[in-house]
Amino acid sequence: MPTLASSPVAVSSDQTSSAVRTNSPSVLFVDQSGQLGGAEFSLMPLAATWGAPHEVLLLSDGPFRARLESLGVPVSLVCEASVSQIRKDTVRLNWLRALPGILRQVRAIARRARAFDILFLNTQKALVLGALGKPLHRKKIVWYLHDVMSSEHFGLLQRFVVRWLVRYAVDHVVANSRASAQSLVALAHCAPDAVPVVHNGIDLGAFSGRQVSDVGALRRRLGLPEGVYLAGLFGRLAPWKGQHIALEALARLPHLHLVLVGSALFGEEAYVEALHEQAARLGVQDRVIFAGFHDDMPAWMMAMDVILHTSTEPEPFGRVIVEGMAAGRPVIASAAGGVVEIVEHARNGWLVPPGDPAALAEAIETLRGAPALASALVLEARAEVAKRFSVEVYLDRMRTLLARADDGSQTAKSR
Ligand code: UDP
Repeated sequence: MPTLASSPVAVSSDQTSSAVRTNSPSVLFVDQSGQLGGAEFSLMPLAATWGAPHEVLLLSDGPFRARLESLGVPVSLVCEASVSQIRKDTVRLNWLRALPGILRQVRAIARRARAFDILFLNTQKALVLGALGKPLHRKKIVWYLHDVMSSEHFGLLQRFVVRWLVRYAVDHVVANSRASAQSLVALAHCAPDAVPVVHNGIDLGAFSGRQVSDVGALRRRLGLPEGVYLAGLFGRLAPWKGQHIALEALARLPHLHLVLVGSALFGEEAYVEALHEQAARLGVQDRVIFAGFHDDMPAWMMAMDVILHTSTEPEPFGRVIVEGMAAGRPVIASAAGGVVEIVEHARNGWLVPPGDPAALAEAIETLRGAPALASALVLEARAEVAKRFSVEVYLDRMRTLLARADDGSQTAKSR
C-alpha cells in the first residue's frame, strides 16, 4: 500500500493550497449506513463541500440520505437486505447466505465508480464491497478507517478480510485517530507511515456561537429538570458505549440526574431494555431520562452541567467528546483509544479508567465540587477544539490527502 504522508501524523492544514482544491479529483463516497453515526457525520461536510464531481453511494437507506440531500449532495442507493443484515457479530454465519447480494452490490459499486477518479470507502462494509470490485472498476481506493481493528471489536474472519484487502486492493488508508491507525498497522503489518491520521472536525460555530445565558429556560424547552446537577451522555445506546456504567455511577450519587441522548442504531434494542431494567433495579429510574436521538446537539449539551463519555472499549475517536468541549461543558471521558489524543487529564478534561463506575462517580463529584477547576478545563478545551478539531482543519487535511491520492506519483512509496 503506498503512503499518503511521510509520517504517521496527519499533514498540516497549511499544506493545502487553493490549487489542490481547484484540481480536486472526482470522488464516489461509499457508506454502508443510512443511520447517523460518527462516520456519517464526518462524511457530511466533506461530501457537501467537495469541489469536483462527486456522489455519495449508500448501501442502506435512512435519515443520513435526507441529511445529505438537504446539503445538496447527490446520493444514490444500492440496498441489499441480506447484506445489510450482516452485523459484526454475525459475519461468519451470514456472509454465505448473502453471497448473491454481495456480488450484486460489488458489481453495482464498481459500475458507479467507473465515472469517478477516486473511490472513497467510509465504513467496513463499504471497504469490503468496494475493494472486492477493484478488478472491475480499477479506480484508486481510499479507505477512511473509523475503527480500532482489535479482536474486541472484530472477529477473526473480518480481520483477515480487512488485512487481505488492505494489502492487495486498497491504495490508501486514512485513519480517524492514531489509535485506529496503530491497530491497522498491527493487523496488516503495513509501514507505520502508511496510515496518516485525520481527526474528525466539528462545526465550532454551531456550538460556541450559541452560548446560553439562561440554562433554566433551555432545560424547560427540552423538558429537562431544573435546579439539579445534570450529567449528559451522548451517543448511540450500545453495550460498549457503556451507558450501564453511567447508571452505576448514578446509583452512587443521590443528587445527580442523568440524561442519555441517543438511540439504538444497529439492533441493540435488547441493551436498551437491559438499561431500563438496570435503572429500576438500582432505584434510579426517577433520575435518568432516556431522551432518544436528537438533532440539536449544541442545545442538548449546553443544558448539562457535565458531559460523560463512558465507552468500555477503546473509542476509535469520539466526536461527542469534542462536541462537549466545544459546547463549553466539562467532559469526563474513558481513557482509551482515540480519546487520549483529544483529552489531557486535568488540563482540558478529566480522564477515568474505562468501565469503572466508582472512578466515574468520583470524577463527577470532583468537578461538581470545584466549579473553578471545571471552568478552567472548559477554557482549555475550547482552545483545543478550535486549534485541532475544527471542521476547517479536518477538511483541509482530507482534501490534501485526496489530492495526493489522485496524484499518486508525488508521494506514493512502493509496497
Ligand atoms: N449524535 C446525534 N444525536 C444523538 C446522539 C448522537 O446527532 O442523539 C451524534 C453526535 O453528536 C456525534 C455522533 O452522533 O456527532 C456520534 O459520533 P461518535 O464519534 O461519538 O460515535 P460513533 O457513532 O462514531 O461510535
